[in-house]
Amino acid sequence: MTLGQRIRHFRAAAGLTLDQLGERVSIAGSQLSLIENGKREPRLTLLSGIAAAVGVQVPDLLDPAPPSRRAALEIELDRAQGSTLYASLGLPGIRASKGMTDETLEVLVGMHRELARRAREAIATPEEARRANTELRQHMRTLDNYLPEIEQIAEQLLADVGHSTGALTHRSVSRIAESLGFELVHVHDLPHSARSVTDLANGRIYLPPASIPGGHGLRGMALQAMGHRVLGHEHPATYADFLQQRLEINYFAAAVLMPLRQSVDFLQQAKADRNIAVEDFRDAFGVTHEAAALRFTNLATAHLDLEVHFLRVDDDGAVSKAYENDGLRLPVDVTGSTEGQFVCRHWSARTAFTRTNRTTEFYQYTDTPEGTFFDSTQTGTTGAQEFSITIGVPFAHSKWFRGRETSNRTSSTCPDENCCRRPAADLSQRWSGKAWSSAKLHAHILSPLPSGTFPGVDDRELYEFLEAHSA
Ligand SMILES: [Zn+2]
Repeated sequence: MTLGQRIRHFRAAAGLTLDQLGERVSIAGSQLSLIENGKREPRLTLLSGIAAAVGVQVPDLLDPAPPSRRAALEIELDRAQGSTLYASLGLPGIRASKGMTDETLEVLVGMHRELARRAREAIATPEEARRANTELRQHMRTLDNYLPEIEQIAEQLLADVGHSTGALTHRSVSRIAESLGFELVHVHDLPHSARSVTDLANGRIYLPPASIPGGHGLRGMALQAMGHRVLGHEHPATYADFLQQRLEINYFAAAVLMPLRQSVDFLQQAKADRNIAVEDFRDAFGVTHEAAALRFTNLATAHLDLEVHFLRVDDDGAVSKAYENDGLRLPVDVTGSTEGQFVCRHWSARTAFTRTNRTTEFYQYTDTPEGTFFDSTQTGTTGAQEFSITIGVPFAHSKWFRGRETSNRTSSTCPDENCCRRPAADLSQRWSGKAWSSAKLHAHILSPLPSGTFPGVDDRELYEFLEAHSA
């Protein structure tokens, strides 16, 4: 098509009609028209003739660049109308004839570009999100999951409000908010999609009612909301920015709730006593087991010289969060993403579900092709679904942990299919082709980025909420 455009361009520049040029190169004007419209390919001898007749060289005709902006738009329109995407609309194509103004052509091409962009966005976003999530996990691995700048900011804020003991009270969180110019307001009608809303104009942070079960999570939520402010976040431009910011506010909240110095003192003492247990760390700072386990991964390598792994796994065995810098081979898909992938049935993250007494942590040694690991796993429930939280270390580090004398030991060769994925041969034989099942969809975090100002929050609902409360 570009070749045809260039022939037409140089023919017009030479002041020749189709018939006049056709006559000079001994073909009919109608044939030349087909060539100019990209419907026919000229032989090389004909090209030489045309080049000579319009006074240019053959390479001038073969140049892949459109000869003019108008020609470029015509080519783009033609391509867009030939796409599967356009065909799916069931609309007729329009030829960019001489009579079509440049403006009309610009509008049509502009709309095609936007149509294609939206289609790409709809397809690429979950993929982009997964990639961004994987890159972030790999990046945090290189940092041993430790962010000293945020630790420092958290320590300074705690010093400002005079906090120096272990667990942080709700009162202290309110005072931190005050020191930043915010008032914490608990309301019953937060937008459904929002965990918290910050009114920058009036200095308020809206949170769900204080009385909900597991209310200790509120301190974390309030701190996360402040985190955006303290860490100087701007509106996220990409999904990667969004994930990075979410990681940072979670980190900040954890660093305030489980302050660096007190946490390291506590854990170093536990290590000296050869009695490290996430459950103790959790209880000392009044946080959830998951929060304590994640905080442990922040500090373990930088302050305790321990490489670790962390897993949050659903009762069906699917990973919802994972981290490792100790060589444990996480299950991953082709993109390197681990969320939604299934961990080995023999890992403690899953064997812990089979226990009847789940009040304490479950301990287990697991032999893998990457070495033997010691794990402690706590199970919990979100109401609808059970999950397990696991902290594990290579065998050599197990001597510092509570539960190391356990006799629980399993062997795992995953991702080898023969480990635990392939059904037993006799069962395969009996059931193959005789059953049907419908899959449950996994609603993991990696859904497309909605178009609102804040990822995942409905702008309209948000602003109506703010309006109602600022009166
Ligand atoms: Zn397995």
